[in-house]
Amino acid sequence: MPPSSFRLATAITPVLGQVPQVATVDVLVAGGGSAGCVAAIAAARSGARVLLVERHGSLGGIGTSVLDTFYGFYTPGPNAKVVGGIAQEVVDALTMRDAAFIRPNTYGAGGGVTYSPEVLTMVWDELVAGSGADVLFHTMAIDVIVDAEGGDVTDVLLATRNGLLRASASVVVDCTGDADICAHAGAGYDGAETGEPVQALTTTFRVANVDTDRARSFPKQELFELMAQAASHGDYELPRQEGSIHRTPVDGVSLANMTRVVGVDPTDVRQLTRAEMDGRRQVGEYVRFLRDLVPGYEKASLVGLSSHIGVREARRVHGDYRLTADDVLSAQRFDDAIAQCGAPIEDHSGGTDTLWRYIPDNGVYDIPLRCLLPVGLNNVIVAGRCLSATHEAHASARSIAQCMAMGQAAGTLAALSSASRKPLRQIDVAELQRHLCRDGAMLSPKTSI
Ligand SMILES: Cc1cc2nc3c(=O)[nH]c(=O)nc-3n(C[C@H](O)[C@H](O)[C@H](O)COP(=O)(O)OP(=O)(O)OC[C@H]3O[C@@H](n4cnc5c(N)ncnc54)[C@H](O)[C@@H]3O)c2cc1C
Repeated sequence: MPPSSFRLATAITPVLGQVPQVATVDVLVAGGGSAGCVAAIAAARSGARVLLVERHGSLGGIGTSVLDTFYGFYTPGPNAKVVGGIAQEVVDALTMRDAAFIRPNTYGAGGGVTYSPEVLTMVWDELVAGSGADVLFHTMAIDVIVDAEGGDVTDVLLATRNGLLRASASVVVDCTGDADICAHAGAGYDGAETGEPVQALTTTFRVANVDTDRARSFPKQELFELMAQAASHGDYELPRQEGSIHRTPVDGVSLANMTRVVGVDPTDVRQLTRAEMDGRRQVGEYVRFLRDLVPGYEKASLVGLSSHIGVREARRVHGDYRLTADDVLSAQRFDDAIAQCGAPIEDHSGGTDTLWRYIPDNGVYDIPLRCLLPVGLNNVIVAGRCLSATHEAHASARSIAQCMAMGQAAGTLAALSSASRKPLRQIDVAELQRHLCRDGAMLSPKTSI
């Protein structure tokens, strides 16, 4: 049994001694999305014993279950590249399999890398397994045990097909997207639960039998006008009257990011359940609209729904530093940079369109390490869309390339911390940056070593 001074957020403390220990590792990564996969790979390649736990049965998170385009590698203006390292390896692995192509900046977020989500799922399996990281699927991190002072997470409780299990780790990397580990451990955060606005949710879909040439030659602005007219006549329920429908690596198949479910707290299971059904109902409406009215889609058939609704924003942790809109728009550089970003603020908060704010002069800003370090926790680091940022700054920094870059930094730091038995904050940032640059990461000119 753990000492009585240990704290557990759920009411199972009396049976804790009977919960089998599934692993004792250097680094536990919770969540196998874009950030978590890269964190696990980086930590394992750095020599740490790593366990990656994922609640679903495959890797890639939103990047494989909801969409098909990496944004954030390139800036919107001159298409300057700002992310490398393991993220670039992923792109190379997809390209080698003929499963990705670069899409010009038709959407607004910069050049995108559009890929096959199915092939990416397999690429993640290979890269993660190849790194030596251990993986448990169908395993949800549901709580943590923290030490008497409350600053160290000693164990993570896992709900699995085999019942409750626990895993002990020196460092925990929270890549759940929703900052589940931080929330269980008592860290502060902002999100719908705390009354903050969060972005709308989206169910994506794929249609086949598209006459791609005709569809592509129909101007985007005319498509958006058709949507507005169709919605205003009351014939179709189209809450978002713009969005993206684009070709994929499969001939005649397009992926649409168009639906919009607003006012949902994604951490509330009832609200999330309603959102799932609402998102799918909206897909029916958008498919009907496309088939009825849009050139090239007359014979389109619905062949795929995102396997769950896409959550853009849930909890943003309170970190040692909070990235702000000013930092983004003034292309701020930081001494403790661990990643770069040139993406605009892209806010899908409500209404029928999307709010875009671009960094002037094609600027690029840094994401500082302090945005990954939750206040009050010594051995927990976050990566991905739960970073410490304001709502607006988050709307820029959440692209997948940045999530992967943050994952590389978090995994590398976790391994350095566990190997040296020094707390995360006592690792020299310059040493971390040296490791990142050695491993291909792209840091700002100020910090490149
Ligand atoms: C609809 C939509 C469209 C978008 N479009 C684009 C786009 O085109 N290009 C782009 O670059 N970005 C896009 N984004 C943003 C981007 O996809 C995300 O910010 C990014 O994928 C987040 O990666 P992540 O690894 O932080 O989180 P996620 O991808 O959410 O991964 C989190 C992982 O953790 C797992 N998990 C969660 N909780 C637990 C738990 N308690 N225990 C175990 N496992 C857990 C989840 O199952 C998931 O696999 C979009 C987002 C949405 C929602």
